[in-house]
Amino acid sequence: AAKAAGKAAWARFEPRMRNEVVNHARLGSELHNAIIRHELFLAYQPVFDIVTGAMSGAEALVRWKHPVRGNVPPGDFIPVAERSGLIVPLGSWVLREACEQLAKWHAEYGSAAIRSINVNVAARQLREAGFVDEVAAVLSDTGLIPANLVLEVTESSVIDGRQVRETLEALHELGVRLALDDFGTGQSSLSLLRAFPVDVLKLDKSFVDGICDGEDRGRLAVAAAVAQLAEYLDLYAVAEGIETAAQLDRLRAMGYRLGQGYYLAKPLPPDEMAALMTQTARTVAAA
Ligand code: C2E
Ligand code: MG
Ligand code: MG
Ligand code: MG
Repeated sequence: AAKAAGKAAWARFEPRMRNEVVNHARLGSELHNAIIRHELFLAYQPVFDIVTGAMSGAEALVRWKHPVRGNVPPGDFIPVAERSGLIVPLGSWVLREACEQLAKWHAEYGSAAIRSINVNVAARQLREAGFVDEVAAVLSDTGLIPANLVLEVTESSVIDGRQVRETLEALHELGVRLALDDFGTGQSSLSLLRAFPVDVLKLDKSFVDGICDGEDRGRLAVAAAVAQLAEYLDLYAVAEGIETAAQLDRLRAMGYRLGQGYYLAKPLPPDEMAALMTQTARTVAAA
C-alpha cells in the first residue's frame, strides 16, 4: 500500500516537475540569446542617507525585456542562470555596465551627487578564478576608485570555503566594499562578521515589514539588533524595502543611516536617475 501511495504521489507530482524542468531549460537557452541580443538592461534603485536626504548611491538591478514574455523578473531567471553557469557572463555584463554608468554620472553630475554603485554578485562568480582581476580591470577601464564599488553577496555564498574567503579578502585589499545582502535571513552567524572583511550590512526587507507591526516583536528585535551590531563593529547598516513613512521614522530612530525602498524611490531607468540627481535636497530629510 505504501508503495502504491508513493507511486500515486509521484505520478501526480511528475508532470508539474517535468514542466518545470522543461521551462528552465527553455528559459536557460533563451537567456543565453538574451545576452547576445541585448535584451538585458539595468534599473537603478537609489540608496539614500536617511538623515540628510542625500542620495548616497544606487543598486544595479538586472532586467530582462523578453520579446514575447515581456519583463521577466530577476527572481525567475537569476536562479536559472546560477544553475546553468550563465550567471558568470551575465554577472560580468552587469558589473561592467553598472560601473560605466556610474562613471558617466560622475562625469556629468559630480561624485557628490552619487558616490557609489552596488552590484549583486552570485556565489558562482566568486568561485571564478579570475574574478578579482576582472573587478580590477573594470575599475581601471572606467576610472572609478575601488571605494565607489559595493559588491553585494549573501551570507550563504560567503560561507563557501577557503577560495571564496581569499577572493573576498583580495577584493577588500583592492579597496572594494563588501555588503552582506538580505542580512538576517541566512544561516547568520555573528562569527562570519569577524572572519570576513564585511563593510555593510543590508537588513532584509522581511524585517522592515515587521517593525511597525505591534505584534511582531521578533522582527523588530532583529532590526534593532542589526543597527546596534553595525554601530559597534563600525559597519554601515542599510535597511532595504522601506515602504512607509512610519517604517522610515522607526529605522532612523534605531540608528539606520542608509535606506532603500519604494517609499523613497523605486528602481529607475538611467534617465530618471539623472533627473533625481539634479535635485539636491530630497523630501526624505524632511519626512
Ligand atoms: P536584492 O539584491 O535583495 O534586491 C532588492 C529587491 O527588492 C529588488 O528586487 C528590488 O526591486 C526590491 N525592492 C526594493 N525596495 C522594495 C520595496 O520597498 N518593496 C518591495 N516589495 N520590493 C522592493 P528585484 O529587482 O526584483 O531583484 C530581486 C533579486 O534578484 C535581488 O534581490 C537579487 O538577489 C537578484 N538580482 C537582481 N539583479 C541581479 C544581478 O545583476 N545579479 C545577481 N546575481 N542577482 C541579481
Ligand atoms: Mg542586492
Ligand atoms: Mg537585498
Ligand atoms: Mg533581497
